[in-house]
Amino acid sequence: MQIITTAREMQQACRTLKKSRTLGLVPTMGALHDGHLSLVRRALTECDVVAVSIFVNPTQFAPGEDYEVYPRCFEDDCAKLEAAGTALLFAPSAEEMYPADATTFVEVAGLGDRLDGASRPGHFRGVATVVAKLFNIVGPDRAYFGQKDAAQVAVLRAMIRYLNFPVQLVACPIVREPDGLAMSSRNRNLCASDRGRALILHRALYGVAKLIEEGETSAEALRNTMLAVFASEPNVRVDYAEIVDPSTLLRVADTSWGALIAVAAWVGSTRLIDNMLTDNLRVDNLVLEQPFMEAMHA
Ligand code: AMP
Repeated sequence: MQIITTAREMQQACRTLKKSRTLGLVPTMGALHDGHLSLVRRALTECDVVAVSIFVNPTQFAPGEDYEVYPRCFEDDCAKLEAAGTALLFAPSAEEMYPADATTFVEVAGLGDRLDGASRPGHFRGVATVVAKLFNIVGPDRAYFGQKDAAQVAVLRAMIRYLNFPVQLVACPIVREPDGLAMSSRNRNLCASDRGRALILHRALYGVAKLIEEGETSAEALRNTMLAVFASEPNVRVDYAEIVDPSTLLRVADTSWGALIAVAAWVGSTRLIDNMLTDNLRVDNLVLEQPFMEAMHA
């Protein structure tokens, strides 16, 4: 695996590779887990070569958010990527990506202000900007993103369409821990008791999934169910619990035509997100381990 830290060198390396091969890109912020690696594995099945980026992007963090304490473990990440078959790793510094005179940003108005964009003003402006830069640096045929960040997928799909990026966005299923918690680099920052409490996000989604399978389609009823589940864990603060159209991120009244059920909550000082698509109820591995299911229904 070749490790590259400057945009210019990365652009050259990718241009050379792309002459004869298809190129997949997996953008990440590092502290890699199996969710990230599932994107790399998927990319390897669909592209000749795979490039991964590791960049903790300062512009997507608001002042006071967890930029400084975001987990960083570069050596470990390199070993995992190399073992997974990554050809190129792009790991630029913040100065390399944002020179002092950088004043150009990408903003997906409307969509970028919904869900996480509403709770974290400026977040999706930072995401769209860095991903647009990565697209220009790498020039991938396909780019792989996790459905875990469902609002990000919607924002980036819109950006690709509006700005005519010649890239196909591939959204990959959420990878979970055996007890249902969605894998996240931020899970590393949870203390043992918060790790237990964090399961409430999954439990809220699971409650909704069960209701939908029983035939409930009213978004209001489903939302109330989620809020009731969250209320049972007073140490977790809900940021949002929404039922929206997966493309527009606007609320729907009824889930009959498919919906995104999305939650965000503060567990201690860590903000976690999770979601499910109603279309994927059976395949979006919301299946729980038996002991956990028994505990839930006790
Ligand atoms: P991050 O490093 O958190 O910016 O994530 C990099 C990419 O990995 C994003 O496209 C995420 O949506 C994706 N990702 C993160 N966690 C998971 C997960 N548990 N399952 C699938 N994809 C994930």
